[in-house]
Amino acid sequence: MSVEEALATHLEDIGKNNADGDPFLVADLAHFRRQQRRWSKHMPRVHPYYAVKCNSALPVLRALAECGVNFDCASKEELRLVLSIGTRPDQIVFSHPAKDTSHIRYAIENGVTLMTFDNVDELRKIHAVSRDARLLLRILPDDSKSLYKHGIKFGVKLEDVPCLLKTARELSLSIVGVSFHVGGGSTSIDAFADAVRLARRVFDLAERSGHHDMSILDIGGGFPGSDVTLMPFESIAASFQTALNECFPPESGVRLIAEPGRFYAESALTLAVKVVSRREVMRPAVSASTDSRNTEAGCNADGAVAQRRTFKYYVNEGLHNSFHLVAVKLATATPRLLSLGGHIWGPTCNPNDWMNQQCMLPELQVGDWLRYDRMGAYSACTSSHFNGFLPSRIIYCRAFEVRAVRFSG
Ligand code: PLP
Repeated sequence: MSVEEALATHLEDIGKNNADGDPFLVADLAHFRRQQRRWSKHMPRVHPYYAVKCNSALPVLRALAECGVNFDCASKEELRLVLSIGTRPDQIVFSHPAKDTSHIRYAIENGVTLMTFDNVDELRKIHAVSRDARLLLRILPDDSKSLYKHGIKFGVKLEDVPCLLKTARELSLSIVGVSFHVGGGSTSIDAFADAVRLARRVFDLAERSGHHDMSILDIGGGFPGSDVTLMPFESIAASFQTALNECFPPESGVRLIAEPGRFYAESALTLAVKVVSRREVMRPAVSASTDSRNTEAGCNADGAVAQRRTFKYYVNEGLHNSFHLVAVKLATATPRLLSLGGHIWGPTCNPNDWMNQQCMLPELQVGDWLRYDRMGAYSACTSSHFNGFLPSRIIYCRAFEVRAVRFSG
């Protein structure tokens, strides 16, 4: 069943059964296979470890595992989820650089030994739990050209690397590689290659300071999840490839991994929301503030400002549910229909719970449905219960197509 068929069938069922018409997401599981093919073609040397935080629905994780994708987990619960679908511990990177000791213990007890760190206290906590951990040093690349900057929270500067290398040696902990995240929505193609070059310098420093097991480079996430982007995946991959071949050629023996999240999930899910209420609002036909060039515009013959009918539409899903990225201003969401003007609000009492200030829509009635594409990343999993509006259910389609697929890279 295609996404369109799943949307239509579900809406038909709602109509037939006179059901309430809660919002719902449709997940196209075949999308993961398509993205995997794309990944293997353009990043053949890099094994993807899907960032579970991006969308942790079990069918999504299973579909990715079927494609041969490994997993990046950030907490005990994510580890539990991924292990519960039969993932081997050595197919997981525990990529949170600042973990609670109980989470470190859970990882080690379950055989997950590959984990990141970026500070001395983390080394001490890991040391207190086990000497078996294999550590990736999370470094701080230049993410100034990214929309979503991870560097304000995580990653160690080059000048602080020697201290961490020394402490790890003193604690007899094994550093096996380097990780970084260039941030999301980067507008600099150089950011990726520069981060790889920085990682090379850290590898050299580590090897010189007696860490002789340096064998993994983790290039993190930040790959776009749709083609509506300034920096297409293929350009980023090309930039990485060049830098990886220069700094970590195949003969270096360094294993390359990545932690893509939205690359896989973003375009896999489509959201359907219902208009639950509307309010008519008259607005000046041409706003003086937006068009100061022609003050006559929008006036009637008698000089009165012409008014146009617009609507505030209230839908049953908002910033506290699947529109989290819109809430934190890291994404915009556009409903599919295009025509006249409207303003779309989420269901809660939060006055900032709106998704579209001015968007072009035909005149909608209460009970009409809107469709938002590319709603798979950081949506369902960040959805809250605020104001009693529960996370949307997910309908899965095209699952059967995924089963035969295996990762070849
Ligand atoms: N790896 C880490 C450590 C992250 O924190 C994140 C996102 O927060 C990701 C990977 C996934 O990033 P993206 O969805 O931009 O690929």
